[in-house]
Amino acid sequence: MDFELPEDLRMMREQIRRFVDKEIIPTEREAYDGPEMRPEVRARLEARMKEMGYWLITTPVEYGGLGLGLLARVLLWEEMGRTIALPSRKTQIFGPEPSPILFQLNEEQKKDYLLPVIAGEKDCCFALTEPDAGSDPAGIRATAVREGDNYVINGYKRFITNAQHSDFVQLLVSTDRSKGPRGISAFLVDMDTPGVSIVRAQPTMMDDEPCELAFDNVRVHASKLIGREGDGFKLAQDWINTGRIRHGARALGVIRRCLELATDYSKQRITFGKPIADRQAVQWMMVDSHLDLEQLTLLVYRAAWRYDRGEDVRHDAFAVKMLGDRLSFQAADRCLQIHGGIGFTKELPIEKFWRDQRSMMVTEGPEEVLRMSLARHVLEAYAG
Ligand SMILES: Cc1cc2nc3c(=O)[nH]c(=O)nc-3n(C[C@H](O)[C@H](O)[C@H](O)COP(=O)(O)OP(=O)(O)OC[C@H]3O[C@@H](n4cnc5c(N)ncnc54)[C@H](O)[C@@H]3O)c2cc1C
Repeated sequence: MDFELPEDLRMMREQIRRFVDKEIIPTEREAYDGPEMRPEVRARLEARMKEMGYWLITTPVEYGGLGLGLLARVLLWEEMGRTIALPSRKTQIFGPEPSPILFQLNEEQKKDYLLPVIAGEKDCCFALTEPDAGSDPAGIRATAVREGDNYVINGYKRFITNAQHSDFVQLLVSTDRSKGPRGISAFLVDMDTPGVSIVRAQPTMMDDEPCELAFDNVRVHASKLIGREGDGFKLAQDWINTGRIRHGARALGVIRRCLELATDYSKQRITFGKPIADRQAVQWMMVDSHLDLEQLTLLVYRAAWRYDRGEDVRHDAFAVKMLGDRLSFQAADRCLQIHGGIGFTKELPIEKFWRDQRSMMVTEGPEEVLRMSLARHVLEAYAG
């Protein structure tokens, strides 16, 4: 077994780490204006990424992107995870990141949706969650009913990230409610189609503002169906897996930064005549985060490596998402504790890591639901 990363990936990581340290972290607390990244900050960072050759990292070469493998992307996401300057859920600074669903469109659909996204001319969102359907998609009530050459869509979606800036939505609705999740289909719906409305933004404790969307007798041509009826979840599977591994990569960055902050601060902060770094109670918190970082690194890199070899990583992805979100939240929590009162202020990034990582433990699959899925695998894998 060789645990060493290939040299090109190590060099890439070093370069991005220096960039994050020198060009992002020093001004990270000024990167935002409310829930949005300041346009001038985004423009500056994106220009630097283009200059450094990290543009369109997820887009395959045949579409003009870098087509980086997942392990390479994981290293980039990990380094970017060390700063609060970048959006935790939306597109970061590597250029547009079309969802894997868009690469499965037919040629006509690609012309209208995928290519404009890659060119930065169109933006989009993904809408699955509803008031009665979050972790359990069987509860989806939004429907698309075929009428001649069209489908008529009715329903309500909530917590939809980036809807405010979207030109179209990748919408999951039921075309056959009797089939449960197997009756869920995916559509491309332009946001300016009559009957589509943003009901309201939903401010959250993380500063993100996902939206509630209503679909009221929205008529779309049958050519807007992605794949076939009932394909909805199959189409999203690759995205779900890589998204979960991305959670793990971000978690590595968060844990590392929290350890950097905690070790520095604990050496300077004197109480009762000694630096708090000399107290075992404080040392053990940092040791716990260090151990978490070590084990999570192996898990995340192995998952990405296996994905790049074309292996099935569903179960790895469950574990990476579940552990990554929890361990990174715990690392932020320990870092907060070590900093005492100053940790809660907005002078430091710790409270933001804490809020963001807490929310990750629910979105894209709460821990309990991931455990439920993993339990099915465990019961099968270890059965005598
Ligand atoms: C900031 C933010 C951004 C989001 N962006 C998007 C987006 O862009 N698109 C989109 O479609 N959705 C989005 N979501 C929705 C998100 O994916 C859902 O919130 C998530 O899937 C959980 O669904 P829910 O909130 O309905 O919780 P529920 O499914 O109602 O679960 C509530 C809780 O019940 C428990 N639970 C549920 N099922 C089980 C079980 N089987 N066993 C044990 N315990 C269980 C868990 O503790 C869970 O946290 C976003 C949410 C947030 C907060």
